[in-house]
Amino acid sequence: MREFQYSRAGDIAEAGRLASAGAARFIAGGTNLLDLMKLEVEAPETVVDITRLPLKEIEETPEGGLRIGALVPNADLAADSRIARNYPVLSRALLAGASGQLRNKATTGGNLLQRTRCYYFYDTTTPCNKREPGSGCGAIGGFNRIHAILGASDKCIATHPSDMAVAMRVLDATVETQKPDGSKRTIALEDFYRLPGATPEKETTLEPGELITAVVLPAPVSGTHIYRKVRDRASYAFALVSVAAVIRTEAGRITSARLAFGGLAHMPWRNKAVEDALVGQAPTRAVFEKAADILLADAKGQGGNDFKIPLARRTLTAVLRDATEGAV
Ligand code: SF4
Repeated sequence: MREFQYSRAGDIAEAGRLASAGAARFIAGGTNLLDLMKLEVEAPETVVDITRLPLKEIEETPEGGLRIGALVPNADLAADSRIARNYPVLSRALLAGASGQLRNKATTGGNLLQRTRCYYFYDTTTPCNKREPGSGCGAIGGFNRIHAILGASDKCIATHPSDMAVAMRVLDATVETQKPDGSKRTIALEDFYRLPGATPEKETTLEPGELITAVVLPAPVSGTHIYRKVRDRASYAFALVSVAAVIRTEAGRITSARLAFGGLAHMPWRNKAVEDALVGQAPTRAVFEKAADILLADAKGQGGNDFKIPLARRTLTAVLRDATEGAV
């Protein structure tokens, strides 16, 4: 680990000021950043401790939703009765992630910003455009079992590892931030992440020193909530494929469908055309397969991850079958 300056922010404005001086990183739970610093994948000059900031509350919004402070631990968020009752897809996604110890430390803001688990990204002896722009991509033509089948580029085929973010994407969450100059903004989660393109090192639309202060969930969406995660072992593993679904049926038809996918792309993946293909239809196998056709029309395997294409199809159709079972 390289030397760095440690500062503890007393308030949000101070956090912004401290972070705007040189190459800085905010630290809260540290469950990903410390690993990256030990491996020298990340070497910030300044680490700004934000754990004392007043961002640990979950509050109800006037619109009927919830504002989740950026420092709410993942374990507390999963256990909150309002989340478990009204946003069960989020509670289940959180509990499907990491381990109990990590969920106690990891925060809402940090979970959104966790970095890919691509093996080459963590191995500084190998080329990686995300770690060192222009150096190449070890995963293309290498070992790429966990890599992307949608939205990848010829510079990077990494996936985003968060389960929580997939559920937040299906719930149309927004991210609240504050910049070092004190200005605030709200970013829809669909605009928060970037695809890798030619600059895989840029993963979000955050600006230097911009601090996530909260995530806002809109009013709850009724329907059957499912989070299905397929992985190599039953716990403490990242998703090969995951599906967050909120599906409503009435009179034997699908009246509302929301679907987001993890393990497939550089960001939580959502394709409205897949949802549109379901709405108004009777829940039949043929309709589910059509939705999978749309989802996977542009899917591209890299060799080691070719299996994800049929796996995503099977996972999606199984989730749709379970969500609509008994629809009359
Ligand atoms: Fe690096 Fe992305 Fe290639 Fe992995 S897939 S080696 S993160 S450039």
